[in-house]
Amino acid sequence: MPCQLLPLPALQDNYIWCLSRDGEALVVDPGDADVVEHWLAAEGLTLTAILITHHHYDHVGGLQLLKDRHQPVVYGPEEDIQGIDRLLHGGESLGVRPAGEIRVLAVPGHTRAHIAYWLPGHDILFCGDTLFSAGCGRLFEGSAEQLHASLQTIARLPDSTRICCTHEYTLANLRFAAEIEPGNASRIEREAEVRQLRSTNLPSLPVSLGREKTYNPFLRCHEPSVVSRVIREIGHPLAPGLPVFAALRSWKDHF
Ligand code: ZN
Ligand code: FE
Repeated sequence: MPCQLLPLPALQDNYIWCLSRDGEALVVDPGDADVVEHWLAAEGLTLTAILITHHHYDHVGGLQLLKDRHQPVVYGPEEDIQGIDRLLHGGESLGVRPAGEIRVLAVPGHTRAHIAYWLPGHDILFCGDTLFSAGCGRLFEGSAEQLHASLQTIARLPDSTRICCTHEYTLANLRFAAEIEPGNASRIEREAEVRQLRSTNLPSLPVSLGREKTYNPFLRCHEPSVVSRVIREIGHPLAPGLPVFAALRSWKDHF
């Protein structure tokens, strides 16, 4: 039986990603224990593992309760999080039921030691708050250089990779993307699709990495259309790549 992938809405606009197979389940960034409890009970599943991407409360808030009740193995980064059983670092590869092989990517920038989980056998990336659909995470503890490098690490994964990020920010991000590339047909198509999904409260995720590359401005810092738009906004020349990324990130912070 193939794995089932599901985003559980939690808190304000979080998703707790769940992967299950043969009665076993893992969850990613459980900010709220109750949501997970209800789902486990309704589906009759045993919680075998919890994956944490970074230390923010909306990602770890339900961790201790779930750990006490279900004794899953808890994986996470070195960010001073209570309850992690196994600290992980970029470059590591591990086997976790029911997912199978998981590769750990170091993706700092949003936080100091943020990690992402790539499941090559399932074409899934659990990327926490680094890459969002049509956007990216804010710089809380890291530099623009770090987050830019982290997004490039993600961009090198197969285009078919399903991006499972932790927030439903897509529509707001698409508004910013429209400011950057008003004529981008792929962005226009994505916006129509997401409006439809959100009108019935369905998640806009996951979305493929290949598709994100066609409209997410933060993955397009070399595109002439993006570069020229950013230069026009800030009023002086900028090199493509990191300088454009840094300018985009701070522009979006007060958009
Ligand atoms: Zn966060
Ligand atoms: Fe978050």
